[in-house]
Amino acid sequence: MSEFSLKPGVVTGADYTTLVDAAKAGGFAMPAVNVVGTNSLNAVMEAAAQANSDIIIQLSNSGAAFYAGAGMADGFQAKVQGAVAAAQHAHLLAEHYGICVVMHTDHANRALIPWVEAMLDEGEKFHAIHGKPLFSSHMLDLSADPIDFNLGECARILERMAKIDMSLEIELGVTGGEEDGIGSDFDEAADNSKLYTQPQDVLQAYELLNPIGHFSVAASFGNVHGVYKPGNVKLRPEILKNSQALVEQTHGTAHNPLHLVFHGGSGSEKAKIEEAVGYGVFKMNIDTDTQFAFSQPIGKFVDENHKAFKYQVDPDDGTPYKKFYDPRKYLRLAELGIVERLQEACADLGSKGNSIARS
Ligand SMILES: [Zn+2]
Repeated sequence: MSEFSLKPGVVTGADYTTLVDAAKAGGFAMPAVNVVGTNSLNAVMEAAAQANSDIIIQLSNSGAAFYAGAGMADGFQAKVQGAVAAAQHAHLLAEHYGICVVMHTDHANRALIPWVEAMLDEGEKFHAIHGKPLFSSHMLDLSADPIDFNLGECARILERMAKIDMSLEIELGVTGGEEDGIGSDFDEAADNSKLYTQPQDVLQAYELLNPIGHFSVAASFGNVHGVYKPGNVKLRPEILKNSQALVEQTHGTAHNPLHLVFHGGSGSEKAKIEEAVGYGVFKMNIDTDTQFAFSQPIGKFVDENHKAFKYQVDPDDGTPYKKFYDPRKYLRLAELGIVERLQEACADLGSKGNSIARS
């Protein structure tokens, strides 16, 4: 059993950093799962409880808007208030699942800086009342911009976050994905800064941000977002190792001083995941796989009970179909799909059985 322990519930501030340290010391990472509503959010907490693993729950800006309701007229307010609603929901319920939950928001590019700032307005209000922030951390992904702009903005936002005990996740280097259309256009030399983060850039980030507050780094080491043709880009976890070593040697820090994050990990080889975790990765994003895990059982249920999705009562023999079209019936199956898929993810990342929550 870990020497670390925390009360169950949403963890922020010093408790959040304890959880990150516990994962790194224990040699495991936690899944970070994107949610879009109470079904997926509750299913992720149920999965974590069943796996006896602590968990990271995150919302993209569009996921947050969906949480508020896709029909809300003011799309920007939906992105902000949906995120607030999800965080409030987790603050209320997480402790009852008996595990630690990190609440986080996912990729925010340059155009979404106002979204992050509006969530911080809400986070500051919440902190003034409750003495803790709404979210454990937010992400700012300015990796498509020049590094000086990227880090300058990260420093500015982290100044504000540090005051309310929040952590910032940043991204360095471009993580390829189908939306980016990169990968095949570049040769895969390890010094290709378009595909592989340079340890020098990580050192620059550390020197600027470490004096301000707690932060984590999503570094590109050949990882890709979303569904991507395999074989185009090679995973090189040694980039993470080299980044840790450069910071450690330059500043005489303890081993693995950086808190690293693995984006676009769906479908990665287990050995490479393990290697990356050994170099200080405490968080691995899982989105695409859990979307399919949610939808697949619904598809099967509709196939098997197709009449119940056309008729309330069977037109031929009068059979009532209420117990089949009750949305709880198939939404519960979808939730269980997520629960099952995440058992595997927690086992792969080594977080299964390693929750540090103690009631
Ligand atoms: Zn990313």
